[in-house]
Amino acid sequence: MTGHPLIPMIHAIESANKPVVAAIEGSALGGGLELALGCHYRIAHSKARLGLPEVSLGLLPAAGGSQRLPRLIGVPAALNLITTGRHVTAAEALQLGIVDQVTDHNTVDAAVKFALSVAGRSLDPRRISTHPCPQQPDLDALFEEVMQKVRQSARGAIAPIACVQAVRAAATLPYAQGMERERELMATLFTSGQARALQYCFFAERAVGRWRMPSGARWDTSKSRPVHKAAVIGLGTMGRGITVALAQTGLSVIAVETQEKQLMEAKQAISGMLERGAKRRGVAPALDGVIYSQNIQAVADVDLVIEAVFEDIALKTKVFQQLSAVCKPGTLLCTNTSALDVDQLASETPNPELVVGMHFFAPAHVMKLLEVVYGPRSSPQAVATAMQLGKKMGKASVAVGNCRGFVGNRMLKPYIEEAFFLLEEGATPELVDQALEEFGFPMGVFRMSDLSGLDVGWRVRKGDGLVEPGTASGRFARIRQGRRYSPLGDLLCEEGRFGQKTGRGWYQYDKPGSRVARSDPWLHSFLGAYRAQHGLVARRIDHQEVLERCLYALINEGFHILDDGIAAGPEDIDVIYVSGYGWPRHRGGPMFYANMVGLAKVLERLEHYQQLHPEVPHLQPSSLLRRLVASGSPPIHKWGEAIKKLHSQL
Ligand code: NAD
Repeated sequence: MTGHPLIPMIHAIESANKPVVAAIEGSALGGGLELALGCHYRIAHSKARLGLPEVSLGLLPAAGGSQRLPRLIGVPAALNLITTGRHVTAAEALQLGIVDQVTDHNTVDAAVKFALSVAGRSLDPRRISTHPCPQQPDLDALFEEVMQKVRQSARGAIAPIACVQAVRAAATLPYAQGMERERELMATLFTSGQARALQYCFFAERAVGRWRMPSGARWDTSKSRPVHKAAVIGLGTMGRGITVALAQTGLSVIAVETQEKQLMEAKQAISGMLERGAKRRGVAPALDGVIYSQNIQAVADVDLVIEAVFEDIALKTKVFQQLSAVCKPGTLLCTNTSALDVDQLASETPNPELVVGMHFFAPAHVMKLLEVVYGPRSSPQAVATAMQLGKKMGKASVAVGNCRGFVGNRMLKPYIEEAFFLLEEGATPELVDQALEEFGFPMGVFRMSDLSGLDVGWRVRKGDGLVEPGTASGRFARIRQGRRYSPLGDLLCEEGRFGQKTGRGWYQYDKPGSRVARSDPWLHSFLGAYRAQHGLVARRIDHQEVLERCLYALINEGFHILDDGIAAGPEDIDVIYVSGYGWPRHRGGPMFYANMVGLAKVLERLEHYQQLHPEVPHLQPSSLLRRLVASGSPPIHKWGEAIKKLHSQL
């Protein structure tokens, strides 16, 4: 790979004998800032933003940015900017020493004035590449500490590590050798596949905003309604976070809760979250933006309602009927249900076209993902409005069709089930979690289950009639409703092991609520006794099998979802998984990953496991996957076309 094409130009500017002043307006990100670093002075408009965000695309600043920035602002500050890719305001850039002056007026005029004021001064001190980095005590210890931190948070991503190595070269080598190192490191990143995955994510996040529904309704032909005032019904875990997310967007919010004690607690919690959020962002908290009430009549004049009461269809139906009677005509009614049928709820209200799902993730004011769930009767305007509001709240909003679990949770089910089956066959929670965490998830299945609470899934399985008293043994005790079923989670719940909140789950914790998971000998002997009771012989299971069974089962469900038209394209699924389910961004998302691995390989492995486990329907390869392989495994950006063609042939 040859050097970055900007390098000669930047070099020519830096070595010029006339002073060159960069006038920075708008964004100076990546190459723009690298060019400015070649100039002798930098003046920025107060609204400008600066940064070297290459790392977020799997790259590093390779036009000398990794060599000049540490020379200009010192190693610690440069490491922070380059390894995180964060953007800084003009004010922070001035404080860090990236720019020499900030102006509120015409930037070019200010730059010209500035140039005149420095004319005649020696330019030598201003040629950044000709100076060493500012002195830094104990450089080795600093790099070691930063490298450790970066490795931990990178979860397998290589670009942040290469960024540290490039800055190290700036700190320890002459400029020319540092540039050579920058070029070599960039060449490795370029060919790694991770850069492709990260760039795919960047574009996928933009693509999901251009939503379309099977009815033909689309983002560019559906107009959203303005939302100034919103209401949240039910102020439990989710309602509180949703209220905060709405208020922070500048909306007036009516927050309704029937239980007086809950209302008081919620008010305190919401005010606390708003205050902390405002402090972080350096703005005033929007405390006055929220009005609390115990009476649903208070929502009469809102433009949109988000319901977050208990997960109970009868209760939600009642609330929706009350809302239809109370709200002004045209008010959009949204439900935050995680699994109930949005269409059924819509059909119980007088105006089903006004009903959509807005599926937030806990904590709702922090988590990036929002699934906007449309039923067959939801109007395009309702979908457009929910999508627009999601965008305003800064969420990665993805429009999806209505089905059990929508997209994210529907795909998660086979993934979790496979993890349970692996325990039955001889794996431990530690082994499964380690394999998934090495792959790049922040937490494996079992640590995640301990965090969110084992009782959540237990309640759902009970509702589905799957939970039976745990005394039966043998193979048939592990078949429910005609398919393989693992009662392991139910048995733990019967023991009162709900995870972190009870101090025991798949792991043990020092005390209830503690977060540090430790291996639990009780669990291992429990698994041994369980296998003996059911005549199961533990076998050695390796990381590869864990990954293939858990991930390919999840991906297979993704193909079913595409085939059913629940997600419009693979990008929608991938954005959901990267922004809401901890799928490592540098692996692009499950469908991108399948594309990278090769569809034929995924199909072959699913067939292999399906033969070994015929009683597990989710290992049965989806017909779409088969058809894509049969049509020559088109690359991911051609799947949409291929799916359309395959459907028209049916
Ligand atoms: P929660 O039990 O913490 O809170 C529900 C609140 O609704 C309670 O405070 C209750 O008093 C209140 N409530 C009940 N009936 C009411 C009524 N008629 N009017 C006003 N308030 C009423 O529940 P949660 O975890 O916040 O979940 C709420 C909804 O969000 C559920 O549908 C759930 O499935 C869904 N959800 C939960 C999560 C999660 O991680 N907890 C994630 C996504 C979606």
